[in-house]
Amino acid sequence: MVKFLDLQKINLAHEAELQEALNQVLLNGWYIRGKFHDEFESKFADYCGTSRCVGVANGLDALILIFKGFKQLGLLKDGDEVIVQANTYIASIISITASGLVPVFVEPDKDTYNLSVENVSKAITSKTKAILAVHLYGQLSPMRELKELAEKNNLLLVEDCAQSHGAKDHRGLKAGNLSDAAGFSFYPGKNMGALGDAGAVTTSNESLANIIKTMGNYGSQKKYLNELQGVNSRLDEIQAAVLLVKLKYIDQENELRRRIAERYLSEIINPHLTLPKFQSGSLDHVFHVFVIRCKNRKEFIEFTDSHGIQTLIHYPIPFHKQGAYQEYASLKLPITERIHEEIVSIPISPVMEESEVDQVIQVLNQYRPG
Ligand SMILES: *Cc1c(COP(=O)(O)O)cnc(C)c1O
Repeated sequence: MVKFLDLQKINLAHEAELQEALNQVLLNGWYIRGKFHDEFESKFADYCGTSRCVGVANGLDALILIFKGFKQLGLLKDGDEVIVQANTYIASIISITASGLVPVFVEPDKDTYNLSVENVSKAITSKTKAILAVHLYGQLSPMRELKELAEKNNLLLVEDCAQSHGAKDHRGLKAGNLSDAAGFSFYPGKNMGALGDAGAVTTSNESLANIIKTMGNYGSQKKYLNELQGVNSRLDEIQAAVLLVKLKYIDQENELRRRIAERYLSEIINPHLTLPKFQSGSLDHVFHVFVIRCKNRKEFIEFTDSHGIQTLIHYPIPFHKQGAYQEYASLKLPITERIHEEIVSIPISPVMEESEVDQVIQVLNQYRPG
């Protein structure tokens, strides 16, 4: 059986270093915002190229704290509109509504699954105050064009980098440094995963970073002095120590993902499957997942299953067909709906064996609709 993602194997690849990191935290006796936490913030900011990184409890909090931070700075207010792609993971959308802002959904580019600059441009109104660009599946959104559009219309630009750690544009600028502020998730299954929940904000806006740091700690900068009605959203010391190990390997592990992707792209030749668009040699995609499309998805999944290949769907139900967002149930989003009906994610990870990659290619090439 080729597993979709072997998390245990991914972490055991660094077993000795992770054991040492966990042991150090235990021995240090300081478990929240300690020296590993501070070191991680500083190294991850350096890695992304921003002046600041603020550790938080998870990726959703990272995005919520960015939006609430901008409100605190007076740059956003209740009811302001934020443009986002309709086919994103629900957390991107929750971050907007949980911050008292109003999501405006646009259809994605059907080939990249990311924001279509044209559709964003058409959706801008006088109420629009921000764009949330999700680098979905690990591929950068068209940030140069979005930045131009944002500047022209005086909008904030925020990145959701939960799936894109280390993705680089043609100038060498990284995800997390292509907008006003970016939210990262280090959920175990992401490209750079902790051993539990963890997240971070990267930004070069010092005021925003300071406010987020304060908000995430009960609104307190100085013990027992609470300037804001904050929340508890801190990056655990133990996860920071784990992430310092993971950060050393992220580029190497992304390269392994890309190598598998290049093999899939050149060796899966089947007119019944649509492969992702990716320019060979480009570093703008870190293949968090490798998403293909198939018109007879159910049958395709039965076929791969019976041939020992595990697959998943990212994501099977669009937000407007979910109980959580019933008020949007009547929205017409044909591209988003079609994407949700046809997509399938096939195995990709830095610990896949060459023979497993061979097997995936072979099975996918054998598939024929019944
Ligand atoms: C995982 C994910 C999040 C949320 O991250 P958590 O750490 O699980 O809160 C947000 N956006 C996207 C696109 C994600 O994939």
